[in-house]
Amino acid sequence: MMREILWQRKGRTHLCRIYLLIGTKRKGGMKLEVIYPQEASPTWDVLKLTTTRQCWMGCHFCDFSNFTPMKPAHPIAPSLPIPVAEKALKTLEVKVDLVKVRGGLTFREPFEYFRTLVHRVSQHHSTIQVYSPVELHQWHRMEQRPIRDLLAELRWAGATGIGPGGGESLVQAWRDRLSPNRLSANAWIDIAQLGWDIGLPPTAMVLAGDWLSTDDYREHLSRLADFRWGTIEMKLFRASDAHPELESSHLLKILTLIEMTRSYLGEIPLVISDPRGELSDDAKILMTQAGCDAFYRTVAEVAP
Ligand code: SF4
Repeated sequence: MMREILWQRKGRTHLCRIYLLIGTKRKGGMKLEVIYPQEASPTWDVLKLTTTRQCWMGCHFCDFSNFTPMKPAHPIAPSLPIPVAEKALKTLEVKVDLVKVRGGLTFREPFEYFRTLVHRVSQHHSTIQVYSPVELHQWHRMEQRPIRDLLAELRWAGATGIGPGGGESLVQAWRDRLSPNRLSANAWIDIAQLGWDIGLPPTAMVLAGDWLSTDDYREHLSRLADFRWGTIEMKLFRASDAHPELESSHLLKILTLIEMTRSYLGEIPLVISDPRGELSDDAKILMTQAGCDAFYRTVAEVAP
């Protein structure tokens, strides 16, 4: 005999099938089988603090990818002034679980500006993911300072982890096609791993897009599996006018990708980035079942 019931455990609801086993040696004569969770993994509310919306690197998929003008007649907008950021942080009315400090690459502000910004954020929030290996590489080259020192200062300022950047893939063919001016995949990994050594666990990224093949994913995930990561963030691509081919994958393909990521990267927390909170509850429940631990949703942004 079989019956289905809803079962509450640790605050989550599960659909269960109960089989009554008569005439077996099974203790209690009952088998409880959990079919699937009825609730999605938790959503983390994210505050994005954007330093600048311009970046010289020109990655094809990025909203910040404005070419920094070379001629003086073209004004370059300054990055977010620190007093403006502070005022916004003091008057923020929503609860925030994570602050992401990010932005494009600028030649104008020194590293001190970026470190001070993190320090001011740390007066209000305790979980702060800052910048990415791409920015660290730029400061290292511009200021001729060891990356270790830059990371140590960010940690001192209150950072708790390093971000993955706008869309990082370790497959060279992707990089050549979508972000040809980026630092090499090896340099990106080296900087991320230095972050781990310093106490700033890095976040790795998995891009979910129909234009990527299963072999691409295997190559990317198997390289990631050789290193240490605090979190894996999966970014669901959206098509833009300029790049309609970047449309996100079908849900079933994303579920397969989540399972694949789990099989390569084990128990490292896997978060799906859903910045606009557009995923339906059903999609989130299925993603949870496939192995997703949490979702990121942007609830506030402070930008210049
Ligand atoms: S993804 Fe990062 S490095 Fe590339 S253009 Fe955007 S901000 Fe710049």
